[in-house]
Amino acid sequence: MRLYNFSAGPSILPKEVMHQAAEAVKELDGSKLSLIEISHRSKAFINIMDEACELALRLTGLEGKGYKAIFLQGGASLQFLMTAYNLLEKKAGYLNTGTWSDKAIKEAKLFGEVIEIASSKDQNYNYIPKDYTISSDLDYLHLTTNNTIFGTQFKTLPETDTPLVADMSSDIFSRAFDYSKFDLFYAGAQKNMGPAGTTLVIIKESLFGRVTRSIPSMLSYEVHASKDSMFNTPPVFAVYTSMLNMRWIESQGGIAALGEKNAVKSTLLYGEIDRNSLFEGFANKEDRSDMNATFNLKNPELTDAFDSICQTAGISGLKGHRSVGGYRASMYNALPIDSVEVLVDCMQLLEKNH
Ligand SMILES: *Cc1c(COP(=O)(O)O)cnc(C)c1O
Repeated sequence: MRLYNFSAGPSILPKEVMHQAAEAVKELDGSKLSLIEISHRSKAFINIMDEACELALRLTGLEGKGYKAIFLQGGASLQFLMTAYNLLEKKAGYLNTGTWSDKAIKEAKLFGEVIEIASSKDQNYNYIPKDYTISSDLDYLHLTTNNTIFGTQFKTLPETDTPLVADMSSDIFSRAFDYSKFDLFYAGAQKNMGPAGTTLVIIKESLFGRVTRSIPSMLSYEVHASKDSMFNTPPVFAVYTSMLNMRWIESQGGIAALGEKNAVKSTLLYGEIDRNSLFEGFANKEDRSDMNATFNLKNPELTDAFDSICQTAGISGLKGHRSVGGYRASMYNALPIDSVEVLVDCMQLLEKNH
């Protein structure tokens, strides 16, 4: 039996995707060759890359709207500097809602003036700031749509004419959203899209050539876009498996259908966190993430008892990030609802025993 996998990342993928990916490593589509030993310039792989880019645009409703999807390496962390390298001429605004935003700010400062428009650091990032003004002279405004570590999520986007740039690593493809509000968004694959090793960037083509500085080829969006993500050898396994997962998302009815399922899962878990007198949620209720639920035991002395119940039930990956402590249940697209039901049963068993 497989474990109930609540890992925050690298995270769970649908079992059929895992199965198809494993098959392709042995032999790609009856070709008598493995996916990982063929040329990335072969027709077979070019088709895979093209399909991955098309699916990313189709799922987000951005096909034919002047956007380009590219698959890069270096993780979301490289995007912290690439966004600034390519877009920050004078001044950029950042919403600081957690560790990842904080890191993005640090990198952007290497390239120009950075204004922290709002921050929730004062309360260990347990909420999403709401009252702030966005000055009109920014090259872009950067935000992190879902804060993987703290379990908060933007429910609405800031209203602004300033180009919006978003780190969507942990909630891409997770809910219906007007993606055209963004001028650029990026996501490291290993949370909700695929295995580690590639990062999806979707960028409005009108953003190319925005800055006067010279940009090294490997760090230029325009270069990667003009070469259809084949400027250098792409991470073939990560792109292929992400493509399979996007096919799976489409077969499930797309992002909107998955968004409804994700809401059912998170409602079930938060309902229990609020009902069960032994637990308390970490994040502000109105800002709670559908992807990563953070919660604590009110009495830390019950930790061993709860951990042992969870272990017996076959739950894995529930430990909270060290900067928050407690527990974090990551409920990405591929997590079946019965995993959440098992977790809720464990919480109720603890309550019954104590
Ligand atoms: C995990 C994560 C990152 C870091 O991703 P890497 O691919 O490890 O660089 C950045 N932002 C968010 C929101 C994340 O969840």
